Amino acid sequence: MVMDKIQGGYSILTYETLGIPTPFPVGNINCYLIKNEPITLIDCGVYTPKALESLTDQLRNFGLELGDVKQILITHAHPDHCGLASVVKKYSNAKVYLHEKEINKAMDRAEHLKRIELHLAYYGLPEDLRHEMHNYFKWQLDFVQPLKKFEVIEDGHIFTFDGAELQVILTPGHAIGHLCYFEKSDRLLFSGDLMLGSLLEPISIEPYRRERGLVDYIESLKKLSSLNISLILPGHGKPMSDIEAHLKRIANNHQQRKKQILDIIKGEGKITPFRIASRLWPKLNMFLGISEVLGYIDLLIMEGKVQEDQTESRLIVFHVKPFDTLNENIV
Ligand SMILES: [Zn+2]
Repeated sequence: MVMDKIQGGYSILTYETLGIPTPFPVGNINCYLIKNEPITLIDCGVYTPKALESLTDQLRNFGLELGDVKQILITHAHPDHCGLASVVKKYSNAKVYLHEKEINKAMDRAEHLKRIELHLAYYGLPEDLRHEMHNYFKWQLDFVQPLKKFEVIEDGHIFTFDGAELQVILTPGHAIGHLCYFEKSDRLLFSGDLMLGSLLEPISIEPYRRERGLVDYIESLKKLSSLNISLILPGHGKPMSDIEAHLKRIANNHQQRKKQILDIIKGEGKITPFRIASRLWPKLNMFLGISEVLGYIDLLIMEGKVQEDQTESRLIVFHVKPFDTLNENIV
């Protein structure tokens, strides 16, 4: 897609969508090439020869080489978004920008995954599935080159281009330091993995402390709904223009799923996040399933309906808050 127009003597942001292959079930990642100076990539794909070749070929279609890239704006430090950043930097000496809360992930993904494995054990993932998860995480490590040099950016930072600007918006939820990039004149939002149009919300466990992914995610969506966005340019899939319908669909899903999870907890006494996730989605990757369940449990805890406990063997379990049961009995 090409956007190129003149407004009041200034050219507005000119961008192209580059679909870069990944080995993950999600399929291609959309990287965005900003052709205004300084030449910029928003995200840059996984660390595979195929992705590098695809990126190089697509840049060439626009008369550019890897060496022409001056900066890379990372939405978040997952392998499909920043795995190739070190390599592009090596060819181009481009500056790589990301939020400080993504630094640990970008610099040492092995440690990040090791900590997540530990959390999954506390959340009830049985040993055989932990072993499978360990192998899956190990496989993922091949698709990232650790990032050694980068620049840290904060919410509100403005990137200035020849005739255009991009504003950084911190939107935690999918990742704790997830950033969107907003172009004010045309009201475009480069949204990374914040809104993917999928059935499950794209939230994930963070390993350094228990973040409230879904609570953050809902706050991030509220922040975006006030921007009057005309087009969302996501990290995967097609652009979305009917933002309000999308937000409504998300809100409906939340209500239904929250009730479903509360009903399971009510029927079980004490239950681990893993057991809830495997009841709801027996075939799903349990990293995603447990992340999703914890998100809804955080909402239920905030509403005073559910309580968290830890067993002697350090398993995290949830149960209905006694007051809620009492209330129901009275009613
Ligand atoms: Zn992604």
